[in-house]
Amino acid sequence: MSEQHFEKILIANRGEIACRVIRTARNMGIRTVAVYSDADKDALHVSMADEAVHIGAAPSRESYLVYERVIDAALKTGAQAIHPGYGFLSENAGFCEACRDNNIVFIGPPVAAIEAMGSKSAAKQIMEAAGVPLVPGYHGDDQDRDILKAAADDMGYPVLLKAVAGGGGKGMRQVWSAGEFDEALNAARREAMNGFGNDDMLVEKYLTQPRHVEIQVFCDSHGNGVYLFERDCSVQRRHQKVIEEAPAPGMTDDLRAAMGEAALRAARAIDYQGAGTVEFLLDSDDAFYFMEMNTRLQVEHPVTEMITGQDLVEWQLRVAAGEVLPATQDQLTLTGHAFEARIYAEDPDNDFLPVTGTLSFLQPPETSEHVRVDTGVLQGDEVSVYYDPMIAKLIVWDENRDKALQRLTRALREYRISGMTTNLEFLYNLANSAPFRAADLDTGFIEKHHSQIFHDTEAELERELPLAALYLVLEQARAAQRERAASGDASSPWFDASAWRLNEPNVQSFELAIHDRHYPVSVEQSGSADGTRYRISFGGKTIQAQGNLDGSELSANLDGYLLRASVAEHEGSFSLYTQDSALSFSLVAPDLGDADDAGAGGGLTAPMNGTMVTLLVEPGDEVKADDALLVMEAMKMEHTIRAPKDGKVLAFFYQPGDLVDGGAELVEFEASEA
Ligand code: ADP
Repeated sequence: MSEQHFEKILIANRGEIACRVIRTARNMGIRTVAVYSDADKDALHVSMADEAVHIGAAPSRESYLVYERVIDAALKTGAQAIHPGYGFLSENAGFCEACRDNNIVFIGPPVAAIEAMGSKSAAKQIMEAAGVPLVPGYHGDDQDRDILKAAADDMGYPVLLKAVAGGGGKGMRQVWSAGEFDEALNAARREAMNGFGNDDMLVEKYLTQPRHVEIQVFCDSHGNGVYLFERDCSVQRRHQKVIEEAPAPGMTDDLRAAMGEAALRAARAIDYQGAGTVEFLLDSDDAFYFMEMNTRLQVEHPVTEMITGQDLVEWQLRVAAGEVLPATQDQLTLTGHAFEARIYAEDPDNDFLPVTGTLSFLQPPETSEHVRVDTGVLQGDEVSVYYDPMIAKLIVWDENRDKALQRLTRALREYRISGMTTNLEFLYNLANSAPFRAADLDTGFIEKHHSQIFHDTEAELERELPLAALYLVLEQARAAQRERAASGDASSPWFDASAWRLNEPNVQSFELAIHDRHYPVSVEQSGSADGTRYRISFGGKTIQAQGNLDGSELSANLDGYLLRASVAEHEGSFSLYTQDSALSFSLVAPDLGDADDAGAGGGLTAPMNGTMVTLLVEPGDEVKADDALLVMEAMKMEHTIRAPKDGKVLAFFYQPGDLVDGGAELVEFEASEA
């Protein structure tokens, strides 16, 4: 392949990855063309590119996934090459072929390599032949339910059903016993058909405590190949990565070389070119098994960039232009430690369901050589139902894991996002938890350490609860002072006179809502020579407190224990960060009733904006508590709505295909007499 010089490339993607690619292209003096849907006409990637072409309506099936439109945009603007980013068309062999047919360079591997890895089962057959170790399982073409079931029975439970065309954790179900097999198979097939238009499954032995360790590989068109070490992506929710790091803690040079060589064997087996990732499950005995190869740039590529000092997008552009790899294996070095945390619009307290909304306030931490923020949104942007709810990737680097982790927690604490629920506090608590600090990683990390990450027991709130209460009374005093100074000035939004009933002189009683539960608190105030003192009572305990509020920084003395916290507030929701934990809380308005009641009935309302997929029972059917009633879909993930109690389904308010607003009532349900 002869060398070529790109003057202009098109980026067939949106969001942070489109911005990421544009940045490198610009540094290399290459002009860029963005494409955009109706929903993205004011998006950051559009304003960053030199040109932009509208390619259709908001749903990706009508814009970013229509490859004829993307190709037309490239032809119209004279772009010589297309970078597909990740997701969308990045692993679509048809698109890659269409580029070639139109004399446009696809910045990625050859069509045959994409095809070879496009099916997880075909990929496993190729890797088996190349001597790459595999997870035991069934990856045959016969998709008969009985064959799959027999494979699972033979292997022994638990097993994992995986869509052969799957990705992003979709179309995947764990099966813990033979009795669960059919429900899991149907759900996995449906999700796979919706997401990938193919419902073929493979069955794998489910390893119970593996780590997810993947190798970054790079090959050029001259027969050279290198590996850029590993990333540990074990911390996952819903089989999707949450925090990634490089190098993998505890990795030895020998194991690294063995995995790196196996990954290169995998790449060579399919004549790979460009950036690729070979994903392995690493068992506790250091045995590793090929899972799949992603034939594109990964979301988490920045951690590799941070420890190697290389720009992988630049590598992609050079390799696609026919150049040799910028470095040989011997020239590559691994320095320090990097983390990436994925910041999502989602509700960790509600099974990580995606949420939507407007980013009414957005203030990332200050960036430096240690802190990098890859994002595609600006304050005021929408996080809509149409696309992935990732807001940003926060990447940090330092000379070792402990220092890098300190950078991470600090940057998370400084990140301010308002307007929707995010996973920021969850990430902060996770990164601060003892097992994460000790790098006790495996793919079940979040479930295993749930209470330490979620701080959801009353004992764990012992410190945060009085801090939250103290903050509120100090903020109230400050607001009152402000009001006195500038009479008529609006006080802070939570402060509503009716919420504050003065039960008796200097005692205030109120309720804090934390993790959907209500905690009654009372604060008794008394003055003294050295400032106001507070007696804070909650859950049968009483604490003596003093405190001072300076801007958003709270200094507190709780029973002689000196603590600092910072508090961010938006429309009545507060985030309180201490040195080692984060907590969000709000003040319960007295007339809102009981959160527990709302929770129980809330099972039958739509948990988010989405589409109705299937109704699983008929109106008039008697059902048992926890029976599946219907399936909704949002962000291409399925969510099953179950019966809250034994009872009868009277009516469904939506039919399959209908769009449903978050919070809408889905079912008319009559609980049977207890
Ligand atoms: P996807 O392509 O949808 O991301 P993967 O095959 O990469 O799916 O798997 C995603 C995650 O699911 C892995 O990182 C791992 O946590 C878990 N996983 C996959 N296969 C197995 C298995 N056989 N046993 C245990 N966990 C698995």
